[in-house]
Amino acid sequence: MERGASVLRFFAYIRREEVDEPVKSVVLKPRRGEARLEPTLVESEAPAPATGEIIVRMAACGLCGTDLEKMRGEYTASMPVIGHEAVGTVSAVGRGVTEFRTGDRVFPHHHVPDYSCYLCRKGNETMCDHYRSSNLDPGGFSEYFRVPRWNLEKGGVLKIPGKMTFETASLIEPLGCCVRSIGKCAIGPGDSVLVAGAGPVGVMHALLLKEMGSRVFISDISDHRLKMAEDLGAGEAVDARSDVPEKVRSGTGGRGADVAIVASGSRGAILQGLRSVRKGGKVCIFGVPARGSVLDYDISELYNAEREAVTSYGAVEEDTKAALKVLSARGAEFGRLVTHSFPLTRFDEAVEAAAGGAAMKVVVTP
Ligand SMILES: [Zn+2]
Ligand SMILES: [Zn+2]
Repeated sequence: MERGASVLRFFAYIRREEVDEPVKSVVLKPRRGEARLEPTLVESEAPAPATGEIIVRMAACGLCGTDLEKMRGEYTASMPVIGHEAVGTVSAVGRGVTEFRTGDRVFPHHHVPDYSCYLCRKGNETMCDHYRSSNLDPGGFSEYFRVPRWNLEKGGVLKIPGKMTFETASLIEPLGCCVRSIGKCAIGPGDSVLVAGAGPVGVMHALLLKEMGSRVFISDISDHRLKMAEDLGAGEAVDARSDVPEKVRSGTGGRGADVAIVASGSRGAILQGLRSVRKGGKVCIFGVPARGSVLDYDISELYNAEREAVTSYGAVEEDTKAALKVLSARGAEFGRLVTHSFPLTRFDEAVEAAAGGAAMKVVVTP
C-alpha cells in the first residue's frame, strides 16, 4: 500500500481492535472456466471502517437454505453474497458513529430499505429498491465484515442482550422473516396452519404459531426432519410423500387448513399447500422457488374456492425486533434448533450437513 493511502486509512476510523493476522472469509467465486460459483476460503487484510461504518468480528452466522441455492446458482432474488444471518461484536467504529462502540454485541441486518419510497409507504419494504442494494462486506461468513453506513443510518443494526448466546442470536434474521410471513397471512389464535417443510424456517414458523394458539401440521419428505420437528414441539407431523391435503382435511373436520405456509422451494410443496387450504384460505410462498419453476395447477381451483396466494420475502427492522423479543423470552427453546456448528475452515462440512438433511440449523463460527 502506498504511504498516502495508509495515512488516509488510519484517519478513516477512530477506534478499532488490532488485527494482525489475515482475515479468513468464505465467499462465492467462479471456478476456473465454469459459470458455477463455489464457496472459497480466502484470506485478506482486516477491513477498516469508512465514515459511518462499523466492522463486526463475527461470532456466528447461520447457513440459510438460500445460501445453498446461491451456491447451486438457483437463487433468483438477490446478489450472490453468502452469509446474512451473522452476529458478533463491534471491533471498529468509523467516524460519525455514535450509537455503537467496540465491544457491543450486535445483529446487523444485511438488507435495509429506505422506509420512505412509495413501496415502503405501502408496506412492501422488502421490495424497496434500496433493500437489496446494501449488504455485509464481504458477507457474513467472514471473521470480520464491514457494515455499510446505510444499514446503520436506517436503524438496521440491533444490540443483542447480554444473556443471549450468539448461536441463538444468529436466528434473529430467519426468525424475523417468519414473523413477517405470519403477519402477512393475518393468522389468528385457533387457526389451523399447514407448514410445508420441516427445515429450520418451517420449525420456526411452527413454534411461533403454536405459541399463538394455532393448530399446526408440519410436513416434510424426510422422516428424520419430521422426527426432529416433533421433538422440538413443532406440531403434528405429516409425511409429505403421503396425501397431505387429505390428511389436513381429515384433521380439520373436512374443511382444510386456514393457511398453508410453504417453507420449501419445492413445487410439490406449493401444490400441497394450495390443495390443503380451505375455501377462502391463504397459501404463503415463503421458500424460494428455483428459477424456471412452473406449476401445473388449474387456476380455476384457486378462483372457485376463493383461495389466496401470497408471498413473503425477507424481513425489516420491525420484524427482526419482534424476533429479538421472542428469542429473549424463548431463547432456550429456539436455541435447540441449532444442531450443528462448524468453523469457517470446515465450511464444506457445514454445507454438507445442511444440504443432507441430517441437521436442523447449521451455524458457522470463526
Ligand atoms: Zn436466510
Ligand atoms: Zn423504500
